[in-house]
Amino acid sequence: RISFDLLCPHPLHMMLTWILLGQVPFFLEDPDYKGLELDLIVLCEKHGKPSERLVAFEGTMTGRRFLACAEPEGQNCGFVQWVDEQWPPTMENALLKLWSMVEESKSARVNDNLQSALTIHHLAEEKNKLDADYDKLVKDVHQLVDFQQDRVVDFSYLQSAVTYQHQCRAELVAG
Ligand SMILES: [Zn+2]
Repeated sequence: RISFDLLCPHPLHMMLTWILLGQVPFFLEDPDYKGLELDLIVLCEKHGKPSERLVAFEGTMTGRRFLACAEPEGQNCGFVQWVDEQWPPTMENALLKLWSMVEESKSARVNDNLQSALTIHHLAEEKNKLDADYDKLVKDVHQLVDFQQDRVVDFSYLQSAVTYQHQCRAELVAG
């Protein structure tokens, strides 16, 4: 939904008016070109208010000045009027190359982050496994100790049984 408005009443008659409804290009904060455009009266069509000076920061449009509806997001009518003409093809190619380099380094970073996330997940799993192993070891040791105590008890029972038999025998001998 791009319409070209070539009826430009302003001194910058080379300007192309592009109305990209709801599609304002990404832009950059530029100290040399910012705020409301009050020198040229370019009113956004829907609101009839002075437009805002912005610098595109997207694809082949990167660095081109434009005027846009100054209303905040949600109320913004998407009015865009380019101040700078399209760059020559060589410049556009260079910009596309730069953006593809940015994308590459971004996806490399995403991969790195994914890798660290997986490593952290793996480490967490290792820790859980170690915790489980430790719990099992503690349980085994307790069982072993219990078992040994049972054996001691058994032994003392045996001991008392032997002692009892000794006593019985002694009584028999005495009797
Ligand atoms: Zn507007």
